Amino acid sequence: MKKIAILGSTGSIGTQTLEVVRANPELQVSALAANSSVKKMEEQIREFCPGTVAMWTEEAATELRARVADLDVKILWGMEGLLEIAVLPEVSVLVTAVVGMIGIKPTIAAIRAGKDIALANKETLVTAGHIIMPLAKERGVSILPVDSEHSAIFQSLNGERENRIEKLLLTASGGPFRGRTREQLADIGVEDALKHPNWLMGRKITVDCATLVNKGLEVMEAKWLFGVELGQIQVVVHPQSVIHSAVQFADGAVMAQLGVPDMKLPIQYALFYPERKPMGGNRLDLFELGSMTFERPDLENFPGLELAYRAAGLGGSMPVVFNAANERAVALFLEEKLKFVQIPELIGEAMEHHRRIEDPTVEEILAAEAETYEYIAGRIKQ
Ligand code: NDP
Ligand code: MG
Repeated sequence: MKKIAILGSTGSIGTQTLEVVRANPELQVSALAANSSVKKMEEQIREFCPGTVAMWTEEAATELRARVADLDVKILWGMEGLLEIAVLPEVSVLVTAVVGMIGIKPTIAAIRAGKDIALANKETLVTAGHIIMPLAKERGVSILPVDSEHSAIFQSLNGERENRIEKLLLTASGGPFRGRTREQLADIGVEDALKHPNWLMGRKITVDCATLVNKGLEVMEAKWLFGVELGQIQVVVHPQSVIHSAVQFADGAVMAQLGVPDMKLPIQYALFYPERKPMGGNRLDLFELGSMTFERPDLENFPGLELAYRAAGLGGSMPVVFNAANERAVALFLEEKLKFVQIPELIGEAMEHHRRIEDPTVEEILAAEAETYEYIAGRIKQ
């Protein structure tokens, strides 16, 4: 029996992780955490019987406690709740499926406690990779990627650990607006941006796919996970989303992982690594697919990706600002207070305004995040 805990269990990755649990009786859920989705959490508690649950706000925890008063489950709240779940003695894998930098502290606590991490929460690696990767190495724990591209790279590296990587080929669908010019992007509405051609995901990451900022975050995520230089990561637009990413080795051989787009595969792979468990669902039909196409990313009309390379190249606290500014800009766009094309503009401005810190501590990371939020709030009021 493998006992897991899921931070962000009510979200897109969280619920798909629970689908994987449902299909695999050898997985058991010890703990769940969410922000405020009390009703969904009650359903999850009744189905999966975790011993511990955390909500972000005290009100949500109080409401949940009343709803499940008939059950034997401990309900916590706030960062303390997340931290307690992260170090539960019986848990062997922590699935981090929250959005944003809220995941940093629980991830660090879990690594310190010797837990393997099934990592979906890419913002944690983007902003604190310099703390997390050395700590994981020191504690001998695995960071198992859930993000489909990184899982594909991880799978392509099986049995190849000693071999030199020449390049990572990080594939991108190009999002719903691939091929459009800046002028054509001027009037994009929220509904348009929330329509991803191949994947069904949370709202924030879906917008990030449309701006190519998600690919930028994934470049930084790959740099930390696989210990390569930025110049070794090439983004390849591949609209069919069949090749989930690939590795080019020193002899020119390219190893890739292909499949239909379904996040349950990388989630299940991370939970059972190195074993491949059977999984139902659609299979890749190459005859039906017919052909695959590839393009260079359009950095001119989608400057978010270039800004990500710039932030990653500068390093230190700059990726924190890139990520925090994007998070706020996307939230403002979803509230219809900002235009689609202004998202990268605001990120660029916040980066210009920031005074970079080398090797930031967790407290400095969170301070840079707060400073960026404040900067953007001031900019939007004007
Ligand atoms: P969603 O928005 O669908 O879900 C976010 C989850 O986090 C929800 O359960 C939410 O709870 C919870 N949450 C938010 N804030 C807090 C908090 N302060 N404390 C505790 N829980 C909190 O996001 P996704 O599932 O789409 O994405 C999760 C992560 O995975 C992101 O980092 C994303 O980039 C990454 N990812 C997602 C992919 C996907 O296919 N969706 C693919 C690859 C990576 P509540 O419901 O109460 O708000
Ligand atoms: Mg991805």
